[in-house]
Amino acid sequence: MGRDRWTMIAWLGVLAISIVLRVVLEAQETPYLVAVAPYMLVSFATPVVVLIGTLRHRPPHRAGWFLLVAAQVFYAAADTVTVVDEVLSGEFLEPTPADLLYFAYYLLIAAAVLLFIRRRSPGWDVPSMIDALIVAVSAGLITWIFVLQPLTSDSELPLNAKLTQSAYPVLDLMLLILAVRLAMGTGTRGAVLYSLLGSLVLMLSVDTIYLVQNILEGGGVSESYLDALWMASLGLLGAAALHRGVRHFDLRSEHAQPDASPARLGVLAIAVLMAPGVQVLVWLLDWPLNIPLISGSCAVMFILVMTRMAGLVAAQRQAAVTDALTGLRTRRYFSDALSLECRRAGRTGHGVGLLVIDVDHFKRINDGYGHPAGDEVLREVSRRLSAAARAGTVVARYGGEEFVVLAPHTGPGELLALAERLRAAVAELPVQVGGELLGVTVSVGAAAQTHPGPDSLLRFADEALYAAKAAGRNRCVLADVVPATH
Ligand code: GH3
Ligand code: MG
Ligand code: MG
Repeated sequence: MGRDRWTMIAWLGVLAISIVLRVVLEAQETPYLVAVAPYMLVSFATPVVVLIGTLRHRPPHRAGWFLLVAAQVFYAAADTVTVVDEVLSGEFLEPTPADLLYFAYYLLIAAAVLLFIRRRSPGWDVPSMIDALIVAVSAGLITWIFVLQPLTSDSELPLNAKLTQSAYPVLDLMLLILAVRLAMGTGTRGAVLYSLLGSLVLMLSVDTIYLVQNILEGGGVSESYLDALWMASLGLLGAAALHRGVRHFDLRSEHAQPDASPARLGVLAIAVLMAPGVQVLVWLLDWPLNIPLISGSCAVMFILVMTRMAGLVAAQRQAAVTDALTGLRTRRYFSDALSLECRRAGRTGHGVGLLVIDVDHFKRINDGYGHPAGDEVLREVSRRLSAAARAGTVVARYGGEEFVVLAPHTGPGELLALAERLRAAVAELPVQVGGELLGVTVSVGAAAQTHPGPDSLLRFADEALYAAKAAGRNRCVLADVVPATH
């Protein structure tokens, strides 16, 4: 076993023993300082472990991990102040020094997660941002109705205490949104991501249990169990940093768009349904209904969902008309455009020109250099064709290594000049594939008609292409079109 694995096992071992000790010592009613010792050990060890992992694995961008180290230093300091406070049972005015240190901790964690998010996806990844916003509005509504509103309307609490106690759920909410954004964004999946998310979820759960207990005024889960959960959260963070996946964790993803997976849609559906659910719950509890707030949240989420759907439809439409290999128009788009132009030409008599282009001896390229090399040639030929075609023409991949160019308002002379230009654009320079330079040529069949039908135009151009091949390839042939009689 390697050094990395031993370090991981040692860390998880120390963690497990500490967690058990923390719960057992509390149950044995040992003195406070002894009972919290295992917890403090994990709290102090976490920044060191994260630092060791970062220095050992040398991730490409270390800033995020160093921010986590700094966060955990603040966290250990805050814990220390809390323990001292507990022992001296000093009555600090809120916010206490410990509160301020905890706030710094939350902000540093948030900064680290934000950095990871930015590093992992190219651009802003707007779809994931909208998804996270939907969850944010939903979680924000719940936090407001069930936590902040009761807290702020508690008339016995002084203002400084209200503000301090409100800051925690607000910071939690911020972290939740960032965690959701991290989970939903593009980027490598794997042990590091899941450990980090697990750590955040545990941390937010402890805070939520804490809050709910405060609101219900006491009772419930004991301090040592909450400490144990928090230690598990720290443990997962340390494990994430120790894992070798750290090296790839914040490499930029190639995909700008996340997929619309069932899990993602499920999360969004739950988030959106939360608002009406909350309204019913509040009504059942006989609490005062905050209609503007709940209706407003519903409206905002509805607009966000519609925006997201519009984006998905636009992406689908774009995919349907764009050839995946070459980026040219698809055959489907071309067929629609051809029918439309033929109908238009039938009315105006302006004429339509069509080129059918086929790569010469393409099988030899595939056979000699492999299919991927063939694909690269197709991409380069496509680039040259679209660069040389004039504006207003449709350049499409008809299938395999055949291309079509639809040129509206174009007579035979002009069309043949265009065909010649495209042929020359492909033939004039060899195509570089890997280390090799390959001479690539195309043959072009051209047909122009004043009152064309899509099928006849295609047939004429195809026959002309056949003639160009028969005449020796790397040439253009204009079809001898029988003028339409009418
Ligand atoms: P010709 O000069 O007569 O056109 O000869 P050719 O070898 O080009 O013959 P043909 O047009 O029939 O060749 C088509 C070949 O193109 C066969 C097929 O393997 C290859 N092909 C079709 N689609 C693709 C593709 O997407 N990528 C690659 N690499 N090859 C393809
Ligand atoms: Mg062919
Ligand atoms: Mg060919």
